[in-house]
Parts: sequence; structure tokens; C-alpha cells
Amino acid sequence: MKQAIRAIHIHITGLVQGVGFRPFVYRMAKKNSICGWVENNNEGVQIHAEGNSHHLDAFLADIKACAPPASQIGSINSIPVEPTYFESFSIQKSSNLSDAITHVSPDIAVCAECLADMETQPHRLAYPFINCTNCGPRFTIIKSLPYDRHLTTMQPFAMCETCKEEYTHVLDRRFHAQPVACMHCGPAYQILPTNELISQGDEVAKRIAFEIDKGRIIALKGLGGYHLLCDALDNEAVLRLRLKKNREGKPLAVMVADMDVASTYFHLSPVEKVCLASWQRPIVLLKNKVSLAHTISKGLNTTGVVLPYMPVHFQLFKALKTKAIVLTSGNLSDEPVIISDQEALASFDGLADLVVGYNREIYNRADDSVVMVAGNKQRLIRRSRGYVPSPVTLKLDTEGIFAAGAELSNTFALGKGQQAIISQHIGDLKNGETLHFYEESYGRFASLFRFKPQLAVCDSHPDYLSAQFARNLGVQCIEVQHHHAHIASCMAEHGLNEKVIGIALDGTGYGTDGTIWGGEFFVCDLSGFERKYHFDPVPLPGGDQVTKQPWRTALSYLYKYFGSDLFKMDIPFIRNIDKEQSEFIIQMIDKGINSPVSSGAGRLFDGVSALIGLCHETDYHAEAPMRLEAAIKPGCKGKYLFDLHDGKVVFYKTFYQIIKDLKTQTPINEVSAKFHNTVVTILIKVARLLNKETGLKKIVLSGGTFQNRYLLETTEKLLTDMGFEVYTQSTVPSNDGGIALGQLAIAANLRAMGKNYNA
Ligand code: ZN
Ligand code: ZN
Ligand code: FE
Repeated sequence: MKQAIRAIHIHITGLVQGVGFRPFVYRMAKKNSICGWVENNNEGVQIHAEGNSHHLDAFLADIKACAPPASQIGSINSIPVEPTYFESFSIQKSSNLSDAITHVSPDIAVCAECLADMETQPHRLAYPFINCTNCGPRFTIIKSLPYDRHLTTMQPFAMCETCKEEYTHVLDRRFHAQPVACMHCGPAYQILPTNELISQGDEVAKRIAFEIDKGRIIALKGLGGYHLLCDALDNEAVLRLRLKKNREGKPLAVMVADMDVASTYFHLSPVEKVCLASWQRPIVLLKNKVSLAHTISKGLNTTGVVLPYMPVHFQLFKALKTKAIVLTSGNLSDEPVIISDQEALASFDGLADLVVGYNREIYNRADDSVVMVAGNKQRLIRRSRGYVPSPVTLKLDTEGIFAAGAELSNTFALGKGQQAIISQHIGDLKNGETLHFYEESYGRFASLFRFKPQLAVCDSHPDYLSAQFARNLGVQCIEVQHHHAHIASCMAEHGLNEKVIGIALDGTGYGTDGTIWGGEFFVCDLSGFERKYHFDPVPLPGGDQVTKQPWRTALSYLYKYFGSDLFKMDIPFIRNIDKEQSEFIIQMIDKGINSPVSSGAGRLFDGVSALIGLCHETDYHAEAPMRLEAAIKPGCKGKYLFDLHDGKVVFYKTFYQIIKDLKTQTPINEVSAKFHNTVVTILIKVARLLNKETGLKKIVLSGGTFQNRYLLETTEKLLTDMGFEVYTQSTVPSNDGGIALGQLAIAANLRAMGKNYNA
């Protein structure tokens, strides 16, 4: 017996635009004998579906179970409606209903089907700009919404008849794939500066491989900016790249041919494998197993590793002799990654032996994203290509709020509806080029997401350029303490809006007393915080200079706890130190000359790293703590003493015992392990005290120091075992890249409650 026809209206929100969602719905409708229509508008995907109950259930189940890889269903609601008795299923044209939130897909690594098509489709044989609704460039080429080809940098490329047929054929995998292209009509690689166009990826790959295998350096235009490439097994090539790029010690990322090569050179957990292979294709920090060129990670025990994600990368490894190449972002020093061909030619002159671009413009710059796995969870360290501009959903009305972010590793965030749209990694705003990138990106995000600022929020640091930008927007501007924003960022990620214990271990942030903070124990919510405990502050002789010269910080700790007796200590640090310079530094401290006081956890790690001889001076940000972490002796359970006094964590006994260990030549890796265990013990002790005082069980960990895997994993596990509910960051960085989200959550909450900021 034929079942009665029912009709339902389905509304789907989430990341459902530009990811092939409508054709997917069409295919599912055909499969389940559903009639009606599907439409994209600024509120998400709307479906009118008619069929018998059985088919409708199956249709809904398929939508939930088989959605395209890069889509992310936020909510799916269906309500019964009157049937109209449609005779077929159709895809309606995009309509612009309102200014409500619209999602823009991030860029997606080339899919397996497209890679296969490159060997079979006559018009795409070896064609390196192949893509489909499941893969290809998105955010980096989009200029405006709705997501349609003419509003992307594909606009100059008129589709050929074949591509148009695929684009308009609803059952084709390239139906409405906006960047659809083939060798006859699409972009092509370009050897610069001759502008010779090469549309065959294998040709380009051969040219590049020939140079790389000879030990040369190549500049190659990627999805979100240029990369610099060289053989990762060739020490001399790597060294040359480092020197020319002004990156003497900074670890370099490596691209390997495939998962097998990755597991040859690196230790891989199952979760790390999933991260490596994910469509976002981030750089994953992995533990070294077999060494590549020793100049790559320079003494660290981890390397950033990424698998091929553009078609040309796959073609390159077919042509190369080496199975691993350095793939580092094409920029100079701390400037933003280069996206224009002209700039690439000028900047890489004398650095790269070959510059290879392509004739499609990159509109939105995006660095490679970086993740690590800790506690079996993926943790974002740099959130850019593949993740941006996917929103983070809050349980708060964020509409019209602009969050300016921090100063280093900056990102900013816009509030739309209940969402935070976080920008790509911008970088260090003290660099003029980077500040320009910040301002330009704000303009582009505001126009792309139809954002009109009603309220701004920024860091309370008086000199942050991001804060100045926010104050100049012409709307009310709330100033939020840096470490409170770190904790709020983690709270926002987990939808928390209540009183919690917040522990921020961080480098540097401006405190409400005008000193530098960074080892902070708060009781807080999204309206304000109480500073309950903090690390014992030390003077930083030379101010910012100490991050480049952590030995100054070590000296400052010794002087604080042992006075001039420090010179009598029979330890390598004192034996090797320049006496005259040290006395000068001590005079600076005594006279208070350029010696701001800091409770930063980052400085404590710096100091210990320098004291035990791991890092006297640094080549890059956070090198000293990274070396300290790399030195940890696995399984070592020892720890040092410390004191809690007057709301302060005092390290006199810690340093006393470290020095004792150094005098008796205890191996450095044991000292490092004991130091880390000490910090974990401090966190637990203070957490228990605060729990006793307040009854709070929810504990939130954030701040850049929690990028230390050992610290994060051990603390999270021990606190959880004790019955705490522990919240840590994974979808946004715990470093300053996550600050904007925290600022946004605080501002949204204050506005909703009609409260003032309470710090
Ligand atoms: Zn594809
Ligand atoms: Zn074509
Ligand atoms: Fe910070």
C-alpha cells in the first residue's frame, strides 16, 4: 500500500556553504525518492522535503551521516509543513535574505577523487589546479559573499564548455564548485620572472625537483602565500635557507611524501595520524625518531610536519629523489608571508634559486596552521589555513563586537549572532608590515561578514597597537586584563559562564597594578576576576631584552633569592658568566633602571633553562622553555620544594635545590623533569587551596606556557584524577592567538548583563 505523502521543512546551520552541501542534499534526495527543493541563504541551508515517512526518515539520517567532509552541521531542525506535491527535487539559486551570519569555508586539501581524476580526465591530466566541491581553495580566494565564482579571484578565468557542463550538472562532483578549472581554462603555474606559463603540474614539479635535488632553494606560491623549499636531508641547503631567511635557530617545518615517510622519521600516535591526514592538513608537531638534516630542529626533539595538500605537492614528490623537504613560510624575519608575485621576486632575490608563482591572485593571506597533540587531543597552536574563517560558537550574543586581540601572535575576532569569527594568524604587530596586514584584514573581514562594530574590546596594555586600533573605532571600548582574556578564551571554547578557578601560565601580560603578570591563579567568571595567587615577581633587567637573553632572568632570580652570594656558587652558570656584565646587570636591578617586575611563568622557565645551561641566549620566541621541555627525562618523578606565602608562590627553595643538584652534577634532564614536576605540584596545591576556599571544582587552564605538552598533560591528568573538572584549549590556541576569543566572550557577557568590567 502506498504511504501518505508528508512534508517537512529542514533548517541546517553550521559550516554548510561552499562545501558542496546543496548538491549533496540533492543526491540524498534522489537516493531516497524525496521531492521538493534545497536553498542556501544567509541563515543556512533550507530544505523543503516531501515523501513518505520512511523515506523522509532515511533522508534526514543520510544528511546527518554522510555530509561532505569539510562541512560541519551546527544544528538541524525539521518541522512538519503542508505538502505542495512537488514532482521532483531542485536546487534553488542562492538568495540574500538578511545580514545574518553566513559561513565561508576554509581552504580544503585536495581530495583523493581529484588526485585520481588527474590521471584519468583528459582535460585535467596532471592539471595542478584541479578541485571539486569537496576540495580546493576557498577562504584564500574569496572577496565577497555569496560564495560565487565572480566574487573570487577565479573571476578572470572564464569556464570552458567542459568545465561549465560539470559545473551545471547537478550529479557531477564539480556541480557549483566555484573554482572549477581545467588545463584549457584555469590558472597555470608561472616561472618568474619570465612569466612562462606551465599548466602541467608534472612539468612544474620536474623543474622544481631538479633544483631541490641539487641542493637549491625554491620559492613556490602556495594556497595562502609563498613557501620556501629545500631538501630536508641536505644540511647545507637547510643552513643556507636559514641564514638567508634570518631564521638562524627557529625550527623549520617539513613536508614529507606520505604517512609512511612520516612514520619512518617521526613517532606517530593514532591521533597524530588523524591530524596529519585531516582535510585541514595542518603542520603537526611530532617527536623525532630518525633525524633529518640536523640543522632543521636544532636540538629540539620535535619537528613540525605536514603532508602534501596541493596537487603540485603530490606531483613534486613523484619527481623528487628526497622524501622530505623543508616547507617554511615565504617571508623575511617577522613580516607577513608574501602573497604577491612581484614582492616574491623582489624579496627572494638572492635567496631563492627559482621563484615559481601562478596566475591566480591570493586574496586572503593564510599561513599554514600548526597543531600538537596532548592528552590525545588536537591543540591548535597557530590557527590559519584550513581552520579560518570557521566560527567558534558561543552561548552569548556577540553581534557587533570587535575583539582586537593581543600584540604578538595576534588574531582578532568579530562577533556575528552567537559566533566568534576569528581572523587568520596575523603575527607580531610591532612589525609595520604586520600592522598593515591587521588593518587590511579587519577591513576585509568586516566587509565579507557585513560587520558593523557596536562595541570594541581590547587588552588593557597601554601600548598595544591592537588596543589603539580598537579605541579608534569610534565605539565604546572595554579594556580587559590579558590573563583574564586567556582564561575566558578557554571558557568560551567550552561554553562556560560561571565562577571557575582559572590558572594562566603565560609569558607577558599587563597587570592591573602596572607590573607584568603571567603566573596567575584567579577565581573568575566572564565579568571579572580576583587574583588569588601569583608567581613571585622578579625584576627583568633590560625589559624585553630578557626574552632574547634569558641568562639575565636567571641572574635576576639568583640575585633575588641569594643576593651577592650568587657569585660564590660553584656551578657552570656562574663559572661561565661574564662577571663585569653581571655586575652591571645587578646594578640595573638595584637602581631599578629598565627593570620592570614580572610574575610571568615564561620568565621562570627562561630562567631555569638558562641556569642549567640549556639556553643562554635565544634565536626565537620561547626557545628557552622549548629547550627545557625537550630536556625532560621521561619517567623521572622527583621534584623540588617551594613556598606559598601571602598569595605568592615563592621559588627560593626551588632554586636552592636546583643549585644543589647542579653542584652535584645531577644530569640536566633530571633537573628539567624535577623542575616541571615542581610546577605541576604548585598548580595542584593552589587548585586545592582555592577549591577549599570557594568550593569550585571547575578549573580552567590557559596561557602560552600550556603549549608545554608535559606540563599540560600531567597537570590535566592529576587534577582530573583528584575530581576536578579540567578545561583546556584545543580549538583556539592557548597562546596569544586565543586572546581575541576571550576578549569577545567577556565583552558579550558584560553587555548581556549590563555590567562593568570588574578587575
Ligand atoms: Zn576534490
Ligand atoms: Zn575548463
Ligand atoms: Fe599571553
